[in-house]
Amino acid sequence: MRDHLKSLLGLPDGPEGLEPLGPGSQWHLRGWCAEFSDRRTEMGYKQYCQHFTAHQLLLALGIWSLVLLLFAIPDYLAMGWSAPFQGLLAMRVGVALCVLALMRAVVRKPWLATQGLWTSVVELIGLASFMLVYVLRPEIAIWTYAMTLLMLIMLFVFVPNRLCCALAVSLVGALFTLAMVSQSRSLQTREFVVLGLALALPIVTGYVSAWRVQMLQRQQYALLMAARASNDQLRQEVEQRRALQEALRIQASIDPLTGLNNRREYEKLFSREMARARREGRAMSLVMLDLDHFKHINDDHGHAAGDEVLRCVAQLCRENFREVDIAGRLGGEEFVVLMPHTALREAGEVARRFLQVLSDTEIAFEGLRLRVQATAGVAELQAHEDHLETLLQRADHALYAGKQTGRNRVMLALPDGQVQHYQGGAMAPKEPGV
Ligand code: GH3
Ligand code: MG
Ligand code: MG
Repeated sequence: MRDHLKSLLGLPDGPEGLEPLGPGSQWHLRGWCAEFSDRRTEMGYKQYCQHFTAHQLLLALGIWSLVLLLFAIPDYLAMGWSAPFQGLLAMRVGVALCVLALMRAVVRKPWLATQGLWTSVVELIGLASFMLVYVLRPEIAIWTYAMTLLMLIMLFVFVPNRLCCALAVSLVGALFTLAMVSQSRSLQTREFVVLGLALALPIVTGYVSAWRVQMLQRQQYALLMAARASNDQLRQEVEQRRALQEALRIQASIDPLTGLNNRREYEKLFSREMARARREGRAMSLVMLDLDHFKHINDDHGHAAGDEVLRCVAQLCRENFREVDIAGRLGGEEFVVLMPHTALREAGEVARRFLQVLSDTEIAFEGLRLRVQATAGVAELQAHEDHLETLLQRADHALYAGKQTGRNRVMLALPDGQVQHYQGGAMAPKEPGV
């Protein structure tokens, strides 16, 4: 029956994608008063349309008070400055003041527009006062009656108010009217029924129109909220995916023990830096570091101590090289630092200072104070070199020579393939290729 009525009125079953709409659903609509059953949803809706409703109400009230006062002109033309005219004028001014007071209140507290009570009170005052016209101007009773019908329909379609309140006010207004008309002259039953039916017509028409509009407005609101919720959910999912991708990217590019770039990432960064160095025509060098006798640390103090040392060396790399230098751990206890804008000997000097810092650093681990040293091989990118691999090989070659000749030293890979111990300032004689 209800579904049939809904389809007769042209209402859809419910916004698509909003299931279920039955009782218990947040979006369930109470049939007769066209409001959400759920109090919080209804409050949310009222808050959502409060501004717009307040605006509409102010407009309706303004026009109402204006029309009310304008009708004093025909009163005056018909009655002159008589006592009945003054009574009617006082009524009109009184109601207009009530309407203006409501307007003022709505401007200050816009939520009053969707709340219903005060609009209904002013409507009741207006209707009750209007009954005075029946008493003071019985000669135009038929016009007054026509105006009453118009006012009853306007209660629904012109003045925004809660549907249940508008219905209650219109029923009370109809009763007032019947009482006034039957008091002014004795009505036969047939006339009474006709009058009653005539009063019912604007009420039913107004109620059904307003009901239909309010149901549609709330369904649209529900649809909008559902769309917003699914948008939020989508946004969250996109955010989560982005975070996951970022985590995966970091996992794929960072050495988990030290947090330095791993080999895969290093190759990428090297290509980028090489292209830049070529573009700018500037030097670039690479320092390769290998901890000396690191195996002893593992053997003497355990693998965890070795891990702590590796972490600490990585931290020293971060602290002692420039921000533009790119540090990485290529495996085991081998570290590399790529130094843009740096020629071979400058890089050798930086490496020498770093080895000094390293051997001066005490690494605390479970009550132990560990010290490590390292050997460094330094190579400068050559014009013909296109790959990280060849640069690494030359640095490694120099490093190997350093291990062979005593460790804890910096060895330079010279362009001619020979290696040289860098001691800062004065150069040691070239070592034969090892
Ligand atoms: P050298 O001075 O000739 O470089 O001697 P070394 O002992 O440092 O070199 P070797 O290559 O003999 O030993 C490297 C050791 O580093 C062996 C290996 O167990 C250890 N190692 C490699 N990766 C890790 C790691 O991630 N954590 C720890 N704790 N040890 C590691
Ligand atoms: Mg090694
Ligand atoms: Mg080593």
